[in-house]
Amino acid sequence: MINMSKKQTRMPMQDPETRNQNFDEVSLGYTPEQAILEAMRCLRCRKHPCMTSGCPVHNHIPEFIAKITEGDFEEAYQVLTETTSLPAVCGRVCPQYLQCEGNCVRGKNGGRPVAIGALERFVADWHRNNSAAAEENKDAETSADSQKKVAVIGSGPASLACAGDLLNLGYKVTIFEKENVLGGVLTYGIPEFRLPKEIVKNEIDGLKKKGVKIELGKAVGKEFSLDELLDRDGFSAVFVGNGAGRPIHLGIPGQEAEGVVAAADFLAKANLENEMPKAENIIIVGGGNVAMDACRCAARIPSAKKVTIVYRRSLAEMPADPKELEEAIEEGVQVSYLTGPVAIEAADGKAVGLKCQKMSLSEPDESGRRSPVPVPDSEFIIEADLIIEAIGTKSDNSGIKGIEVSEKKGYIIADPETCESSREGIFAGGDTVTGPKTVISAMGAGKRAAKAIDEYLSK
Ligand code: SF4
Ligand code: SF4
Repeated sequence: MINMSKKQTRMPMQDPETRNQNFDEVSLGYTPEQAILEAMRCLRCRKHPCMTSGCPVHNHIPEFIAKITEGDFEEAYQVLTETTSLPAVCGRVCPQYLQCEGNCVRGKNGGRPVAIGALERFVADWHRNNSAAAEENKDAETSADSQKKVAVIGSGPASLACAGDLLNLGYKVTIFEKENVLGGVLTYGIPEFRLPKEIVKNEIDGLKKKGVKIELGKAVGKEFSLDELLDRDGFSAVFVGNGAGRPIHLGIPGQEAEGVVAAADFLAKANLENEMPKAENIIIVGGGNVAMDACRCAARIPSAKKVTIVYRRSLAEMPADPKELEEAIEEGVQVSYLTGPVAIEAADGKAVGLKCQKMSLSEPDESGRRSPVPVPDSEFIIEADLIIEAIGTKSDNSGIKGIEVSEKKGYIIADPETCESSREGIFAGGDTVTGPKTVISAMGAGKRAAKAIDEYLSK
């Protein structure tokens, strides 16, 4: 029976006044009854645009949702894992409004799409909580024995997906991670209240059970080179998935002042060391999802009195997930639209404010969004003792030698389908090739690379 309600089944959440005082997960997940009720909204469309046009890894969406309606949650999980390695992560952090849910026919004519992400998360969580023993047995069976070794550089979503598929194919895989923790952006970039570390740890534990070798604190270009991996250390192929975590700075006068930090650094400290600066008036410059994570973390600083997003364009152009923005505002974050940063105001070397100017919008630029143009004589100052730059990141491939990188942005040049780099035996994918994109697009690249590496090593 189809549930024809235009509304989604609401997922329980922490109240805004409670959650902005803690780092526990904001969304609490469906109960089995709620998941079945929501799954019954799916029409099992013949063309299933959610899957064909919406999901970058083409999860079999109507099929896994149908299994939920039957109460067969384990089978729903098995359907999902035919195409995705990290359903618990993707169900939480994919921008579903642009992808699967953005293409769902139930979202037309004033209705809300089927809550595909929430259902994916439910299934992955159910499996984790109920099927661990079965999984262990399965791992033992699938750990094959090949003498061929593959090195994976980085441990973010592209690398984890690539490593997982290579292990399933029987290769010996070693992950080299330059930090002392695994998970890349999943661990240091996304706050606990959106993606609990336990979920990421669980995914990594799955790889450990399959026999992955892990080398922490090992950076390409410092402890080893790509040549050494191939020629000296006996690896038959290398996958580079080292992400794009190097911050882009505002480039305005005064930005060296104490109290001006890049969002990537602010989030890494908060996520890894549980350490946040003491500040009362906090500004986040930027309008993307990193800005949302940063402002919601900032709202949880015990001394915070006012947290403001400064964004150069209007709400219509803002790239952030509308749900994240809504939740940030519920948690007390304010937004100053059409506001451009001009200079950091400092006293005794410490930031005390951000000089801004009003902006108006003109014709669309190359991104397709209307360009911000300064309004003459409109400068004003917003008081701030912490200013967080969330205007983007880029790759740091300075340590990568022997393969081609783009001159302008330093991204690795690799085939979008096979992930082959300019050098035989070296493959690359995810943000280090494309620039910052979504977790699921990086994961898709990791999976394509694993397939191409297998073909290359099977020649
Ligand atoms: Fe949607 Fe992401 Fe899951 Fe694909 S992987 S179905 S886009 S939540
Ligand atoms: Fe179900 Fe929506 Fe996909 Fe149709 S488009 S199969 S209703 S999830």
